Amino acid sequence: MGVVKHCPTLAHPQFFLDMYMCVMVHVHIMEQETPDEVRAWFLAEVERLWPLAGGSLSLRKNRCIRPTCQACLSGEGHPAYALHYRIKGRQSSLYVPDDLVEEVQRAVANGRALQELMVVAGTRYVRALKATRRGR
Ligand SMILES: [Zn+2]
Repeated sequence: MGVVKHCPTLAHPQFFLDMYMCVMVHVHIMEQETPDEVRAWFLAEVERLWPLAGGSLSLRKNRCIRPTCQACLSGEGHPAYALHYRIKGRQSSLYVPDDLVEEVQRAVANGRALQELMVVAGTRYVRALKATRRGR
């Protein structure tokens, strides 16, 4: 977007009217995106969001097989992290070792960001489709 370089607000940030005009110009440019441009933007953003994970990470209390385990008898159990997820309505979980928790947490946060990104991508895609139809 070459217009950004000529944006008057960069030269004169004190003029609100200029800023307003700039926003209007940028919004106008966004509407001129093609579906292919939206696709390229989206895929680049997804690439940046790796690692990705759906679901949520939480601590669960595991029980062991020893019949006289004090931790299990007290109800404390053996806390361990697990990634809880759902595929086609079926809920499941996957054990996550302590040393991988930080990494998986980042993946889960990225997964939530991806959901948001998809919503934005959808609106940009629909606008692009509409603009393409107008151009015919
Ligand atoms: Zn136990």
